[in-house]
This record gives sequence, C-alpha cells and structure tokens, in this order.
Amino acid sequence: MGQLNLILVGPPGAGKGTQADRLRGDFDLPYYATGDILRAAVKEESELGREAKAYMDKGDLVPDALICKVIMERVDSTEAADGFLLDGFPRTQGQADVLNDALERRGRKLTAALQIDVPDEEVIRRLSGRRTCVKNGHNYHVEFDPPKNEGVCDQDGSRLIQRDDDKPETVRHRLDVFHEQTKPLVDYYEKKGLLRHFDGERPPGEVHAHIRATLATLQLEEKL
Ligand code: ADP
Ligand code: ADP
Repeated sequence: MGQLNLILVGPPGAGKGTQADRLRGDFDLPYYATGDILRAAVKEESELGREAKAYMDKGDLVPDALICKVIMERVDSTEAADGFLLDGFPRTQGQADVLNDALERRGRKLTAALQIDVPDEEVIRRLSGRRTCVKNGHNYHVEFDPPKNEGVCDQDGSRLIQRDDDKPETVRHRLDVFHEQTKPLVDYYEKKGLLRHFDGERPPGEVHAHIRATLATLQLEEKL
C-alpha cells in the first residue's frame, strides 16, 4: 500500500489537533504532535523538557536542533514505516529542510502538506476558549466544541484545563511567531506542489469530511 506521509500546517488554534484526532482513526496513522511531546517532556522534567520550558512559556519556538532530533526518531521508527501524521512540525524553514533531507535519504517523500486556514481574530477567539485534557491533550472549546460534561474529557474522563500559553498575552506573541517563522512554509510547500488548503472556519465535522476526502484520493493515487 502507498505511504501517507503527512504534515499539518496552520496557525496555533487552527484546529490541527482537533482534525488529527479524527483523521488518525480514519487512516490508522501514527500521530506525532510536537506540542504534546514537548509538554510531556516538561511534565517529566526530562532533559528535553528542561531545555524547552522557557521557550514554551514565552510562546517562542524551541531551537530547531532540539525538536528535529525528537521528531526524526519518530519518523524513522518502525510504526511510521508506512506513513505518519505530523502536527506542529515543521515550523521553520530549517525544520522543513531537515525533514525533506531525511525522507529523501530514505527514498521517501511527503505526500501532502495539509494547511488549515484561519484568520488571526478567530485564532484568538479559539485559543481563549480552548480547554485541553490533562492526560492525553484532547482539545475542546467552551463554545464551539464543548465536551458532553463541563470540564471533563469525553474520551478518557480526565480533567480539562486551560494551557498557560493560551492566556491572551502569550497567544498574541505566538501568532507573531507563526507569521514570521512558519507562514513562509506555505509558499515553500505550494512551490513543491504539496499544499492542500482547507477552510478552517467551517465547523469541525465539515473540515474533517473535506480533509478525509482529499486523503482518500491521495491514498488511491499512491496505490496506482
Ligand atoms: P498549538 O497547538 O497551539 O499550535 P503546540 O501545542 O503545537 O501549539 O506548541 C506549543 C509550543 O511548543 C510552541 O509554542 C513552541 O514553544 C513549542 N513547539 C511545538 N512545536 C514546535 C516546533 N516544531 N518547533 C519549535 N517549537 C515548537
Ligand atoms: P491547533 O492544534 O491547531 O492549535 P486545536 O485543534 O487545539 O488547534 O483547536 C483550537 C481550539 O479551537 C480548540 O478549543 C478547538 O476545540 C477549537 N476548534 C477546532 N476546530 C474548530 C472549528 N472548525 N470551529 C470552531 N472551533 C474549533
């Protein structure tokens, strides 16, 4: 079967995690979210976590060297041999180059870069209402995508909290960082013919249906 090697691109709060949660079930792909990996490392107080924490608290990106190593180990793992879904990586041109070179050396290539478009004002509305499950990072929104029981994760019953970096002052800065460092990747993947756009302002179920249909087509093409 053809590989599905996918990345999700979009501003913080675009709905990448929300969509990834749904797509993983559809396509049985290993899912690697750099934000979740880094938050887990901070919680464990591992060396990675200790190095990353100050950057994350400020809403800055952690250095490329730190995150590239972590993510390339996952992409190289046996479970990702038939494909993967990356969320939150790459976020800089340097990271995109590392991923591209590593895949090329292994005779692999990206299938698509899935871009979820959402304007800045909507990002701010979303992140200020985002609630995240303490255990596995499942995301909800108090108004747009509420859990069945307030403050409790539908999927694993854990408590829902507001992430520290979802406080308004940090959100603004994260958006600036996105525009400066990550947005240029849209052009880069467009030029490579890999970019697929999705209107992230549609409700979560509609965005999901659209991405799923695109991926089903790509998977068929890979098999040909
Ligand atoms: P969001 O889901 O809001 O897009 P993430 O959970 O992906 O945010 O990321 C949280 C934080 O983790 C970022 O603000 C940044 O500090 C760090 N981070 C995540 N991915 C990367 C990456 N690819 N490169 C550098 N830093 C990253
Ligand atoms: P990202 O991973 O890109 O940072 P999330 O998936 O965590 O984004 O979504 C950010 C917030 O917006 C969450 O509170 C989520 O419930 C909400 N959300 C996600 N998709 C949509 C959508 N299509 N419409 C409205 N709210 C959404």
